[in-house]
Amino acid sequence: MDMQQQMDSFVNTTKLDTYKISKNYPDLLQMHQDILSLIKCTEQICQEHDLSPSRLPDPSKLAYGWLRFLSTEKKNGDLNLEYHLKSLALAYHYLSKAQNEQKISSLRKKLSFHLTFYNTPALFRARQQGMDFFVTFHEGFIHAPPEVIESLVLVVSGNDTATHKAKFRTYALTKAFSENNQVLKFLDNHDNKTAMGRHYNLENIFDRVNHEYFDNMFTQPRLEWSRTHSKRNLGAYRPDSNSLIFSKILDNPKVPEFVLEFVMYHELLHKQMGIKIVNGRSYSHTKKFRSAERQFLRYDEVEKVLRSLVHKH
Ligand SMILES: [Zn+2]
Repeated sequence: MDMQQQMDSFVNTTKLDTYKISKNYPDLLQMHQDILSLIKCTEQICQEHDLSPSRLPDPSKLAYGWLRFLSTEKKNGDLNLEYHLKSLALAYHYLSKAQNEQKISSLRKKLSFHLTFYNTPALFRARQQGMDFFVTFHEGFIHAPPEVIESLVLVVSGNDTATHKAKFRTYALTKAFSENNQVLKFLDNHDNKTAMGRHYNLENIFDRVNHEYFDNMFTQPRLEWSRTHSKRNLGAYRPDSNSLIFSKILDNPKVPEFVLEFVMYHELLHKQMGIKIVNGRSYSHTKKFRSAERQFLRYDEVEKVLRSLVHKH
């Protein structure tokens, strides 16, 4: 099957980028499901060809990175997909505001604008085709404050003043933007080699735990070994970049494999349950979490090994 074609048709058929959908607030869950199944499908095809998604030709790679980004959750549990739709609606709002206030340059006044956010290399791209004007904003802008979105819209409407340009360019230098960009482009600097330690490959451990405990509900997050041998933090889950980080201390033949499976299980539970916020404080090891944690098959054994591990070093 031609994956490129498949991606293209998906992007077209879901009409993620039409104002109508974002305005009426579509069936977000259904859209999320569609995205997840396309990601899974892509990964399966890659696997059948013994090919890492990072080896896909550029357009497919960008589409794949984009879909993964949209299906990623922010710390508060909201999907990036939701921010994507909100920002798109906001962009169209500022466009019609500019139109009402006669702020569109005379050259572009009569054109019909089509706005999208996508995994593109440039901060924005604009192209005229007949009377249509297609504008693509970098997906990294979806968490930006409204005035940044407005500055982008004003610039593509022909008001490319230094002030407007400075606004979105400054935002593109923030940590938030660069973190988004990293997730979007993670295939470029990732290559999945980071999951392979000296003794353990985190990908295998993820596959087993995902299968045995979560019915394969997760697509593979970014898996990494920490740079230090931390005893206090054996694992961590970072929702922003959708990555799981494991302490190097576990990458040792003396540590039994089921202990790594347990740490994987613990971090995936965080991913599944999210963080509970009470009176402004966040709680991740709730009662519910702890009882789910005890469902791990060799829980008692793990506890013993972990205790000795922490004390010996
Ligand atoms: Zn934890």
